Amino acid sequence: MRIQAAALIKVNPDRPLAEEKVQHLYRMCQRVVAFKSVCVVCKTTSGDAQRKLEYCAACKTVKYCSKECQRVHWKAGHKRCCRPAQDLRKGDIVQLQGLVARSDLNGSYRELGEFNQEKGRWEVTWLRGSNGILIKPDNLVRAVTVEEMVDFYAITGGIPSFF
Ligand SMILES: [Zn+2]
Ligand SMILES: [Zn+2]
Repeated sequence: MRIQAAALIKVNPDRPLAEEKVQHLYRMCQRVVAFKSVCVVCKTTSGDAQRKLEYCAACKTVKYCSKECQRVHWKAGHKRCCRPAQDLRKGDIVQLQGLVARSDLNGSYRELGEFNQEKGRWEVTWLRGSNGILIKPDNLVRAVTVEEMVDFYAITGGIPSFF
């Protein structure tokens, strides 16, 4: 997991980041990568699970090993964080896909800024306030909701950049 997160950070090597921001991003990426292969409740990995881990059907950002784990997570607060995958909001972490002119960015994770009504595109930033580019909704897959990030930082004690 450490290697994958480090690889994600290298997506923008020509813009040096303050250590605090690198750590912030690193934790975001760890979280994102972890969501792909672990039950968010019991931490069963996809390798250990009896059955395939299944995404929450609504938000498609967290995976569960069982209906029981899904129920536990829902009651523990996922009902406050869960919203449809197409419902993007400022502060969500998204993965870029299907870009042609900037295909070098495909697969990288970014944070959503403001929606540009005029252009019908989202501003995505490497970190808040830096290197914003405009991307069509079709080229964005949400990885983590901003609500989950808030939960995450409440647990780890870090400071989210979107406040
Ligand atoms: Zn589980
Ligand atoms: Zn959900």
